[in-house]
Amino acid sequence: MDTKKKIVVIGSSNTDMVIKSDRLPKPGETILGGNFLMNHGGKGANQAVAAARLGSEVTFISKIGYDLFGLQALEIYKSEKINTEFIFTDQKSPSGVALISVDSFGENSIIVAPGASRSLSIEDINKAEKKIKEADIILMQLEVPIETVEYAATIANQYGKKVILNPAPASTLSNSFLKNVHTILPNRIEAEMLSGIKVMDIESAHQAAKTIGEKGIENVVITLGKDGAYVKEKDTYTMIPAKEVETIDTTGAGDVFCGAFSVYLSKGYSLAESVRFANAAVIAVTRIGAQSAIPYKREVTL
Ligand code: ATP
Repeated sequence: MDTKKKIVVIGSSNTDMVIKSDRLPKPGETILGGNFLMNHGGKGANQAVAAARLGSEVTFISKIGYDLFGLQALEIYKSEKINTEFIFTDQKSPSGVALISVDSFGENSIIVAPGASRSLSIEDINKAEKKIKEADIILMQLEVPIETVEYAATIANQYGKKVILNPAPASTLSNSFLKNVHTILPNRIEAEMLSGIKVMDIESAHQAAKTIGEKGIENVVITLGKDGAYVKEKDTYTMIPAKEVETIDTTGAGDVFCGAFSVYLSKGYSLAESVRFANAAVIAVTRIGAQSAIPYKREVTL
């Protein structure tokens, strides 16, 4: 039998407020948009839901506010069969919110008000230490405090666990932290922030992956939108193309990719095999929304 692997996702929980319009507004401009949609999101939450729907046993370590958005989010995670034991409540901050605009090409622009996500602390990680100890993979992003993420990576390393980092939103990161990361999954912008190299094509993706690797990480996967992903697995470099699909909304594509990648890596597949599965899982771009668009295992064909 295919036993479920254990993934601990540490990150943000937000409510996404989405408006679709023909184009994105310019600074100072007001435009009339199409329908308004409210979805649950946050990179942490999206990646947790993706990993759960794609076949892993997921514990989500996160923080919500003492408000309706937080309570609704908690119900959703329970309905996704995610372990919510370590979703903490901040009595003083609102739950995180993201304002998202999507244009007719599926391109988006996003502002996040992190709220309670900002107070996910080292003490919270200590409370959940037994889950890190039991996990096959720890998956994190950067929408919660960097000290918390760095601390969790240190603990995970002490237990010999693989840490997968999606360094989003783009930030500069210390080499001492990166040494505790098994695989880093930046998009083009994040790869440029980490390497100083503008990623425009395969050659620049190669240079960026190599430069990021020189910071002490063996494995780098740069996601390249509709082009797929460029993979550095130790000393092997491979370009793996995306699936050709009709793009409706790319919101959350990176999150589905990270969740799916972690599911396959936790089962013992290679980086390249995990990336192929992740590329296939991003059929999410053919549907509107982030969490609502995340596919189930049965929908993904390699
Ligand atoms: P987002 O911020 O929109 O969630 P991202 O910038 O973090 O995404 P991308 O590099 O745009 O991440 O996309 C991640 C992965 O999703 C890609 O590597 C690819 O597998 C898939 N993907 C994204 N856009 C498309 C598309 N238009 N067609 C097919 N696959 C796509």
